[in-house]
Amino acid sequence: MKAFDYIIAGGGVAGLTLSYLLLAPEYRQKSVLLIDRQAKTDNDKTFCFWEKGENLFENLVSKTWPRAQVKGTEFNKSYDLAPYKYKMVRSADFYTFIYKQIADAPNFTVVQEEVQAIFDNGKVKTARQTYTGQYVFDSTLNYQTKRLYTPNTLLQHFKGLVIETKEPVFNADEVTYMDFSIPQEGDCRFGYILPFSENKALIEYTIFNQFLLDDSEYDKQLESYLRKLKITDYEVLETETGVIPMSDYPFSVKRSKQVFQIGIKGGFAKASTGYSFLRTQRILKKLAQNLKEGKSPNADLPLQKKRFKNYDATLLRVLASGQFTGEEIFTELFKKNGMHLMFKFLDEETTVAEELKIMSTTPIKSFAKAFVNSLAAKPKAHSKFLS
Ligand SMILES: Cc1cc2nc3c(=O)[nH]c(=O)nc-3n(C[C@H](O)[C@H](O)[C@H](O)COP(=O)(O)OP(=O)(O)OC[C@H]3O[C@@H](n4cnc5c(N)ncnc54)[C@H](O)[C@@H]3O)c2cc1C
Repeated sequence: MKAFDYIIAGGGVAGLTLSYLLLAPEYRQKSVLLIDRQAKTDNDKTFCFWEKGENLFENLVSKTWPRAQVKGTEFNKSYDLAPYKYKMVRSADFYTFIYKQIADAPNFTVVQEEVQAIFDNGKVKTARQTYTGQYVFDSTLNYQTKRLYTPNTLLQHFKGLVIETKEPVFNADEVTYMDFSIPQEGDCRFGYILPFSENKALIEYTIFNQFLLDDSEYDKQLESYLRKLKITDYEVLETETGVIPMSDYPFSVKRSKQVFQIGIKGGFAKASTGYSFLRTQRILKKLAQNLKEGKSPNADLPLQKKRFKNYDATLLRVLASGQFTGEEIFTELFKKNGMHLMFKFLDEETTVAEELKIMSTTPIKSFAKAFVNSLAAKPKAHSKFLS
C-alpha cells in the first residue's frame, strides 16, 4: 500500500487550492497524493466573486467589472461597486495553472482514479488500489448525496450560454447580478449576465428550488430570456451547467483524527449564495498554516459564525416555504440596503446593528418566525459524510 503524508481526494477548487498552498517550499519534505476521477482541463465553471483587495489567484482574473445591476419587474438599479470589484476566473485557467505547477513538484503524485471509499484511519480506496495518508483532505462531494438534504435545502441550478452577437448589445463594464424580471413560477428565478465585451457574454438562467429541470426546459427558458433582452442574432460558443446545494446541513470539517472534509463537502459554500471560491482560499490558508505549525488541520479555521449560519438558514426556510418569490425578497433587500451593505453582509463582515437594519427590510414577520425556528432547529449531524 502506498503511503503519503497528505492525500487530497478531489482536485477541484478546494483540492487544487490546497495543493497550490502546499507547493510552498516549507512543505517540500511532505509527500502529497492528489486524486481526481477527471482530467481537469475543461472550462466547466466560471468563478466570480466580489472583493476589495486581491486574492491568491489574482493572476488568473480574466475580467473585472466596476458596476453591477439588479433588476425586478418594477425595479432596475445600476450600482457603482467601488471599493469592490466583481471578478472572474475561468476554471480552465485555474485547473491548468495549478496542475502545471504540481506536475513540476517532485513531492506530488497525481492519479486519475475514482475514489470508492475513504476510511477514518486515513486509507483511501480507489477503483485501482488503496493508499494511506497521515492526513486525508476530502472534497469528493456528490450533490445527490441523500444525507445532505435537510427539509430546507435548496438547489441552486442553472444553465448558461456564452454567446457572441453580431451587434454590440452588452455594457462590458456592468454585470447583471440578479435579473428577476422573468417569470418567477412561484420560485426564485433570475438571469445572470457576465458581459466579456460589447458582443460576447455568459447569460445564465438560475433557479433556487428543490427540483431540477430537464435540459430542454433550461434551453427554453434561456431562449425566452434572450428574446426578452432583444437578442436574437447570436452564436453559442460554450455552455455551462451547474447544481450547487444550498443547505443548512451541519457540515463538519473534521471527520476523524486523520480525515478532513474540505470544499462544499466541508461546508465552505455559503448556504444562501452558493459562493465558495474566495471562502475556500481563506479557510485553506489557515489549514495549510496549521500543517506547517504541526497543529491539527482544523484548529481555529475561519469557518462561518453561528449567527450568519442562522441568517442563511432563515433565508433558506423562507424561500423553501414558498411564501414569497425570490423577486419579492431580493429586490427589496438590494433596493433598501444597497449593494455595498449587501456585499458586506454576504461577506459576514456586518455589525449586529447593520444586520438588524437588513432584517427590517425583509417581510419581517415571516423572517422573524423563520429565524426563531432556525435557532431552535437541530438538523441531525452525521459523523460520516460519505458520498
Ligand atoms: C457551474 C458552477 C459555477 C460556479 N460558479 C461559482 C462562482 O461564480 N463563484 C463561487 O464562489 N462559486 C461558484 N460555484 C460554487 C463552487 O465554488 C464550486 O462548485 C466549486 O467547484 C466547489 O469546490 P469543491 O472543491 O468543493 O468541489 P469541486 O470543485 O467540484 O471539486 C470536487 C472534485 O472532486 C472530484 N470527485 C468527486 N467525486 C470523486 C470521486 N468519487 N473520485 C475521484 N474524484 C472525485 C470531482 O471530479 C471534482 O474535481 C460554482 C459551481 C458550479 C457548479
